[in-house]
Amino acid sequence: MRNIIFIAPPAAGKGTQSNLLKEHFGYIHISTGDLLRAEIASGSKLGMEVKNIIDIGNLVSDDLMIDIIQNKLTGIKGKPFILDGFPRTLNQAKVLDEILDDDYEVIYLELDKEDAIKRIEGRLTCSCGKSYNLNDEELKPKVTGICDNCGKKLVKRDDDNVEAFIIRYDNFLNNTKVLVDYYNNKNKLHIVDVNRNINDIFNDISRIVAND
Ligand code: AMP
Repeated sequence: MRNIIFIAPPAAGKGTQSNLLKEHFGYIHISTGDLLRAEIASGSKLGMEVKNIIDIGNLVSDDLMIDIIQNKLTGIKGKPFILDGFPRTLNQAKVLDEILDDDYEVIYLELDKEDAIKRIEGRLTCSCGKSYNLNDEELKPKVTGICDNCGKKLVKRDDDNVEAFIIRYDNFLNNTKVLVDYYNNKNKLHIVDVNRNINDIFNDISRIVAND
């Protein structure tokens, strides 16, 4: 099973597709956003520092992110994994290539800004990692405000507001072109249109994973 790197704007469904890949193929899901939010929740000094950066939609420094990802990858040695949220800069991508063998495929989940804004406005998340969307029938929780999986209360992420979203989306676009070119030149890039239903997207991703 090939390791997967997701490149995607906020709210493109990385988390949802990662959960499906986890269930169907046993992938380990590594979300750098989740790792940072766990650090914030722990109340550590580092958590407090990154919270200020994340809440306004900016990127955390490459050095810190590379440290975090190196530790995580060392811990799961040998098991197939999905990187969700890393790399976000060319520097991160280059360091990742030093860590990984050639054993990965890059999946770019394509979603335009207007559709992403709609998703952000309706998004609710659970601390177990599952995401919901009140603007999408497929993604509404069965009971309002409660996680279908674990029964915990759903919350709105502090950075899921239109102001922070615009900074996050623009950061994404600024950094993505260079990443897309980098992986395209390496013949690693697969583009998937995510303005479709979850199963169709998952089928496309499964085919990419199966063919490689
Ligand atoms: P996400 O959950 O992937 O949308 O990430 C939430 C926030 O965490 C981002 O807006 C960034 O502030 C930060 N972050 C996550 N991954 C990275 C990364 N690879 N490089 C820099 N900042 C990151």
